[in-house]
Amino acid sequence: MIIIMKPGASKDSVQYIASYIQEKGLQAHVSTGSEVTIIGVVGDKTRIQGDNLEIFEGVERVVAVTESYKLSNRKFHPEPSTIRVGSYEIGPRTLTIMAGPCAIESRDQLMQTARGVRAAGAALVRGGAYKPRTSPYSFQGLEEEGLQYMKEAREETGCAVICEVTSARAIENAVKYVDMLQIGARNMQNFELLKEAGRAGLPVLLKRGLSATIDEWLNAAEYIMAEGNENVVLCERGIRTFETATRNTLDLSAVPVLKEKTHLPVIVDPSHATGVRAYVAPLAKAAVAAGADGLMIEVHPNPEKALSDGPQSLTIPQFQTLCQELKPYALLAGRQF
Ligand code: PEP
Ligand code: MN
Repeated sequence: MIIIMKPGASKDSVQYIASYIQEKGLQAHVSTGSEVTIIGVVGDKTRIQGDNLEIFEGVERVVAVTESYKLSNRKFHPEPSTIRVGSYEIGPRTLTIMAGPCAIESRDQLMQTARGVRAAGAALVRGGAYKPRTSPYSFQGLEEEGLQYMKEAREETGCAVICEVTSARAIENAVKYVDMLQIGARNMQNFELLKEAGRAGLPVLLKRGLSATIDEWLNAAEYIMAEGNENVVLCERGIRTFETATRNTLDLSAVPVLKEKTHLPVIVDPSHATGVRAYVAPLAKAAVAAGADGLMIEVHPNPEKALSDGPQSLTIPQFQTLCQELKPYALLAGRQF
């Protein structure tokens, strides 16, 4: 449930109710907006059954939250959230670009890409050190060696760095080197991994599962947030449909739907959504127009030689052109880029 306070309700009345809720063994999440303060209540509601919270000082009304996700629910937190990653912000004021190779293949390959995407305006460098490949015989990633290169990329370019984690061991390693953890589509409902990521102390990018509904996705975000980590960013990366012309089908409607249902930032990955280099730029622009807070784009210095996802990777010059072309879209969307 949420307790909506009257406009101008005193801090003392908010504090009194929050303490009352906590003393009953529930959690109280206070969201102070520009106009109204909301107290979100999480836990076993039977403990306050029969308590008439509406008569407490400063309370406007009490509303039940029927969705099973609470902390990620926009009803709990009506203002859109801004998530800090290193010195960057992901949220309503900015267009955050994350770019880099699918997989980190060598120091040279990563550094060259990192310099190129940095020059074009990327805030984060992405690169996989643990690759969840469809075939066990495909390149699986450089693991900790790759993470070390990511750290070097951050030191040299000033970009924040993000890596996918696929196991508790990968999280343990990654926290030593990167600024943000990525949970990939294939692990969106790996609940133990989500809980570990929630405890890791870094912001988390949660990609949409291959066939996950928006409701399932938000519940997955809730797993991370329930561990005390509210710094979650969602990434739409295409879903499985009957269409075979593209690798997946980019569900752009997820952007406005999520904006209504959650306060968490939403970014779009047109690379994995389409699997085709030529389709990345038009969908990147469409995503910004639809209200996305950022983009994740695969870039490789030599896509023909890439060990994974070459066909969908942009070259560095193609990425630089795209970033130039995105500027008017960012401007129209009222976002800094
Ligand atoms: C990735 O971003 O490297 C990746 C594997 O993407 P997804 O989890 O969306 O397939
Ligand atoms: Mn990839």
